[in-house]
Amino acid sequence: MIPAAFDYYRPTDMAGVLALLQQHGDDARVMAGGHSLIPMMKLRMAEVPHLIDLQDVAGLDQISLSAEEITLGAMVTQHTIINHSDLAQAAPILREAALQIADPQVRYMGTIGGNVANGDPGNDMPGLMQCLDARLTLIGPEGERQVAARDYYEAAYMTDRADDEVLVAITLPVPQGGYAYEKQKRKIGDYATAAAAVQISKADGKVATASVAMTNLSDVPVWSEAANAALIGSECTPEAVKTAVAAMLGDIDPSEDNRGPVAFKRHVAGVVLTRAINRAWSRA
Ligand SMILES: Cc1cc2nc3c(=O)[nH]c(=O)nc-3n(C[C@H](O)[C@H](O)[C@H](O)COP(=O)(O)OP(=O)(O)OC[C@H]3O[C@@H](n4cnc5c(N)ncnc54)[C@H](O)[C@@H]3O)c2cc1C
Repeated sequence: MIPAAFDYYRPTDMAGVLALLQQHGDDARVMAGGHSLIPMMKLRMAEVPHLIDLQDVAGLDQISLSAEEITLGAMVTQHTIINHSDLAQAAPILREAALQIADPQVRYMGTIGGNVANGDPGNDMPGLMQCLDARLTLIGPEGERQVAARDYYEAAYMTDRADDEVLVAITLPVPQGGYAYEKQKRKIGDYATAAAAVQISKADGKVATASVAMTNLSDVPVWSEAANAALIGSECTPEAVKTAVAAMLGDIDPSEDNRGPVAFKRHVAGVVLTRAINRAWSRA
């Protein structure tokens, strides 16, 4: 449980971070809250000869809200998301999801940027960001670029981010209508066996827009266009929900592990998604 030796850096601006990343290449890694990276280093599953702490880099922990958009700096912690009342009002699903991550101790340190950038299929925020159609702002030696959360994840721990790029912010349209984040886990503090993020808007008694994503049921988060299509235009009847759930079950690809066999995970996925759609509709 002791990590291999590493050099520790604490730059105060992004230029310093980028310079270190360029200088050390693959041997360098940024650290945000450290609550995914440090355990990996202690278990010797990650070796990081040059560790670049982002804590002192100015401007990464801001939250900005407008009528149309929300921007979260990469270093905004899960604790801040839970306790920011304007944010909770504008996008209550963020608070509902953050409250289901780990425990207060982890949430004090764990950041939205670390959770989203990491590419761990067990992290809750990536699926939620796909549900909310977030855009990720990355900065690297060539400057800034944006990538849609729906295009960012390639495989477990493999993302569209280059080694010399840093995630600086996440921007999402202010969510409309009802929402739900539903998570099944083995015990408090555990990663999801299955989790669902659902955002639904209603017009004339019917589903006007629907966005459904699930977590830890594939090596990447799963945003299901087929599940969305099954809901849009319906009155969210039990039949429509069943069709949407069947569509999602066609898109996930869970593997057996210590959270259970594939058949169990598929069953839990169906239960969790049904609950989430019904709760989001009741709030729409
Ligand atoms: C006991 C325990 C239980 C947990 N349970 C859950 C859970 O239920 N759900 C859940 O979602 N998470 C869970 N986590 C993980 C926790 O939420 C992490 O803190 C979070 O996933 C990563 O955030 P971090 O700020 O700690 O990132 P770090 O650990 O600092 O970094 C994680 C990875 O992302 C990279 N990274 C970090 N920031 C950036 C950036 N700005 N740009 C580019 N790359 C970056 C790092 O290089 C590293 O590879 C748990 C952790 C623990 C210890």
